[in-house]
Amino acid sequence: MSFDLAARLAARQADNLYRQRPLLQSPQGPVVTVDGKAYLAFSSNDYLGLANHPKLIEALQQGAAQWGVGGGASHLVIGHSEPHHQLENALAEFTGRERVLLMGSGYMANLAVITALVGKGDTVLHDRLNHASLLDAGLLSGARFSRYLHNDLDSLKLRFKRAQGNTLLVTDGVFSMDGDLAPLPELAAQAYAHQAWLMVDDAHGFGVLGKTGAGLVEHYGLSTEDVPVLVGTLGKAFGTSGAFIAGSEALIETLIQFARPYIYTTSSPPAVACATLASLELLKSEHWRREHLQQLIAQFRQGAQTLGLNLVESPTPIQPVIVGDSGAAMAMANRLRERGILVGAIRPPTVPTGSARLRITLTAAHSSAQVQQLIEALAQSQAEVQHG
Ligand code: PMP
Repeated sequence: MSFDLAARLAARQADNLYRQRPLLQSPQGPVVTVDGKAYLAFSSNDYLGLANHPKLIEALQQGAAQWGVGGGASHLVIGHSEPHHQLENALAEFTGRERVLLMGSGYMANLAVITALVGKGDTVLHDRLNHASLLDAGLLSGARFSRYLHNDLDSLKLRFKRAQGNTLLVTDGVFSMDGDLAPLPELAAQAYAHQAWLMVDDAHGFGVLGKTGAGLVEHYGLSTEDVPVLVGTLGKAFGTSGAFIAGSEALIETLIQFARPYIYTTSSPPAVACATLASLELLKSEHWRREHLQQLIAQFRQGAQTLGLNLVESPTPIQPVIVGDSGAAMAMANRLRERGILVGAIRPPTVPTGSARLRITLTAAHSSAQVQQLIEALAQSQAEVQHG
C-alpha cells in the first residue's frame, strides 16, 4: 500500500482544477509584479488599499522596535502584550460591543468560536455557501451539522425544525466568492424565534460596509442582541493580519476559558497589532476610501452589464463574473493575463460545480481609468474565448 499522489495530482489536472500560486515580487497594490512581470491586479482583498500604506509600515516598524518580533507564547501564558490589549479595546469600541478577542487568523477565529459554543447534542446551521473555515469548524465541533440553501429562509426554517440542543446559526456577512449580502435582519429574527444564536463572519464587510465602516451589522443597524457573535478579519480591508471575535463579556470570557484554537497557539506579533491600530485610525478618518470604492463598484457593474457579462447581485468590492465551466474560466483568466491583467479563476471545490468564475475584486487604490482598462480587456477576452 502506498499513497498514489501522482495519480491524484494528474486527476486534478485533467479536471482543470489544478491550482498554482502566483509568485508575488512586489507589495500589494493595483499594479504588482508577478513572475517578473508587471500586472494590473484585481484579485486582492486589500479593499481599502491599506496593506502598503506608509503609516502602517511605520507603525509596524516602531512596534517591532518597541516590542520585538515574536509573540513568544500563547496569550494565556505570556504572549498577551499591551498592543494586543489596546487593539482589543479599540475594536470593542469601534464595533460597539462589550469585548473583543484577538485571533491569529479568521480561520482560527471561526474554529475557536464554533467549537467552544457547540458540541455533541447541539446543532449548527450553515448557509450552503459559507466559507470553508466555518464549515470545517462545524464538522470539528461534533454538533449536528445542517446546511440550508443560500440565503433561503424557507430552507432555513425546515432545518430549524430538526435542530436539537443549543443551536448556532452561522453565516458569512458578505459571501466571499459571490459578494452578495446575507439577509441579517431576517436571519436574526429566525434565530430569535428559535432561541438560537446568530454568528456572522464579516470578513469581507468589516471596514467596507456601514456608515463608519463597522461592517454589515452596522449597514443593517443591528445590535449585539441580534448578532451575539461577530467575527471580523484584519487581513482584508484593514490591510494587516489576524482576526477578532466581538460580543458580550461572557462570550469572550468563555472563549478564553474553552476555545482550544485560542488557548493552544502563540499570539501574533505585537507589532502587527500596532499596525492594525494605525489602520483603524485611517479607516475612521479617511472616509473617501469607502466612497471611492463604491464609485468604482458602480462603474464596473455598469460596464460589465453593457458587455452582457454574467454578474452576481453584489453591492460589494467582490464582483464575480460567472463563467460556468472551469476550462472556460481558466481561458478567460489566461487571456486577461496576456493583456497584463491579473484576476483569479475560482473553480470547484471552492465554488459549486458549474459555477466557475472570475473573482474580480476592486480596491480603493484602483483608479477609474484602471477599472475602464479592466472592462475593455474583459470585452476583448470574452470575444476571443467565445470565438475559439
Ligand atoms: N472567513 C471568510 C468569509 C473568508 O473569506 C476568509 C478568508 N478568505 C476567512 C474567514 C479566513 O480569514 P483569514 O484569511 O484571516 O484566515
